[in-house]
Amino acid sequence: MNEEILQQVQVAYGVENWSAGYFDVSHRGHIVVRPAPHDERYADLKEIVEHLLSTGRARLPLLLRFPQILTSQLRELSAAYRNAIEEFGFQGQHFPLFPMKVNPRREVVEEFLRDGSRCSVGLECGSKAELYAAIAQPQTGESLLLCNGFKDEAFVRMALLAVQAGKRVTIVVEKLNELRMVLKLAKESGVAPWIGLRAKLYSRGSGKWSASGGDSAKFGLTTSEVLQCVRMLKEAGLEQQLKLLHFHIGSQITDIKRVKNAMKEAARVYAKLRQIESRVDYVDIGGGLGVDYDGSKTRFDSSVNYTAQEFANDVVYAFKVVCDEEQVPHPHLVTESGRFMTAYHSVLITSIRDEIETFADDQPEVMIDDDDPQVIVELKDLCDSINAKNYGEYYHDALQHKDELQIQFNLGLVSLEDRAKGDVLFWEICARALREAEEDGFPDEEFEQLKRNLAQKYLCNFSLFRSAPDSWAIRQLFPIVPIHRLNERPTDFATLVDVTCDSDGKIDRFVDLKDVKQTLELHHWDPAEPYYLGIFLVGAYQEVMGSHHNLFGHPNEAHLVIDQAGRFHVQKIVSGSSVSDMMHFARYDEAQLHDKYRQQLEAQVAAGQLDAEAVPELVEQYQRLSRCRTYLDAAE
Ligand SMILES: *Cc1c(COP(=O)(O)O)cnc(C)c1O
Repeated sequence: MNEEILQQVQVAYGVENWSAGYFDVSHRGHIVVRPAPHDERYADLKEIVEHLLSTGRARLPLLLRFPQILTSQLRELSAAYRNAIEEFGFQGQHFPLFPMKVNPRREVVEEFLRDGSRCSVGLECGSKAELYAAIAQPQTGESLLLCNGFKDEAFVRMALLAVQAGKRVTIVVEKLNELRMVLKLAKESGVAPWIGLRAKLYSRGSGKWSASGGDSAKFGLTTSEVLQCVRMLKEAGLEQQLKLLHFHIGSQITDIKRVKNAMKEAARVYAKLRQIESRVDYVDIGGGLGVDYDGSKTRFDSSVNYTAQEFANDVVYAFKVVCDEEQVPHPHLVTESGRFMTAYHSVLITSIRDEIETFADDQPEVMIDDDDPQVIVELKDLCDSINAKNYGEYYHDALQHKDELQIQFNLGLVSLEDRAKGDVLFWEICARALREAEEDGFPDEEFEQLKRNLAQKYLCNFSLFRSAPDSWAIRQLFPIVPIHRLNERPTDFATLVDVTCDSDGKIDRFVDLKDVKQTLELHHWDPAEPYYLGIFLVGAYQEVMGSHHNLFGHPNEAHLVIDQAGRFHVQKIVSGSSVSDMMHFARYDEAQLHDKYRQQLEAQVAAGQLDAEAVPELVEQYQRLSRCRTYLDAAE
């Protein structure tokens, strides 16, 4: 592949910066996926997509799920803690939990448990529904089933059922009242779970979720409440069940300094508690291990300035130092790093369906007539004589003329034809000015702004609210890359819009090493050829937080594994939502819809507007259309 193009593609998409070794650009200019970081086996995403589309069983948008990447991330996490434990001579072990709220899909949870036995992976639940699913899953004997979140009696009863099934259930107490309830139900049933206490730290995380920690956090017990819990357990004669201390300082902690500080404090709380209550031998440090979505390795919200190994080192080291100083045993370290475990494993594939025009670059040249208003004549003059020396000045003149054109139009002095001419000339001047500014290396910020305005807007077949809601909700960045044509120079700049009727359904912020880009480099789009885009790193939170906005529902989904020879195998295809599914979701009764439609037709018949014989066929068509898929179909 041409060196210069390769470099341009690297700068434009930075695949190796954010891909953690799972994605790469092949010599054919396609994105390839690997089952483990830098593994020699790989599969070609475009081949996968074309294969799936050719079977007729899958369409776009298409969520590709790679279960091997889930397992691989679990191993990366375990290895990081294993290395740290070894390096610092730490006496405790590491127990990873998968927090189900990050991605509660059955396939994801089962994959962790299926392959995670070596790592003693357990589950963390934060609601009755999560716990209900978790109870039935087989877990290894020493792994934990941990219950977080606010609890009612049914939640606790459910947890006690899991104890009966031989699970190491740990109920983490978030409120004093919860402990009262747990003690009451344990006494009634004669079944006692392990108890954990969630403590508030003074330290906060960093990034978007820094409010999850600190004194005013939503969850957790104050120091005096922790001590009261210890007394209550003693009074109930259940102090031996107090096994775990829990903290969670927020998700996507961007700055490693925050981790170091929080862990020092957490270790001290543990040590002091351990001196009072000697059976607390697990510390659950929660989640927070971040993902470098933009690959910049900085404290920016969509990045992190550390590696998983550094994070693990800081955790283990802090506990080692503080425990030795306080002369208490090293605890087992429990982690709930959901984002890290799942973000990489899925990719949403969409394609460009259409272009939203601001101005068309294939307009015929504007001809001036004798009776054209002065403002049009002047725009034409500017357009004809703009050059490298005057482009700044001429651009400003054009802006002024454009305003004037609008005023005159509003006064009724300009016809629709003239307004159209003026628009075409104005955008042509902008395009020429931009070309000159680009040659000049963008001396002025205003031309950067112009570049954004002139960027292509492409309509892509997906719903942002379904498939990448954090892009909308918290302005998180996800890497977006065409999965093919990467051996060609990207020549266009674009922003993306989705198929929802919501003007927020757009992406105009893109990952960049030094900044946030407002346009994405793309190749010239030819409507006759499919152009596939991958939205990467959407495996954490996006699926479950995505909504049915506009009743688009779920995209199609395929699960793929890559074998020893580097061939891909389709494990499963799950079809996306149909219109009928969405009727059900929004609580319409389909039979009733059909009846009501028929009644309207009959009214038309009665009014003499419709032939009675047409009715059954029309009703049948209406019924049949409920089976169609919600996203844009065909032509791909
Ligand atoms: C959300 C949550 C997690 C997961 O955090 P990540 O940053 O995604 O790893 C872990 N523990 C608790 C208590 C949570 O609320």
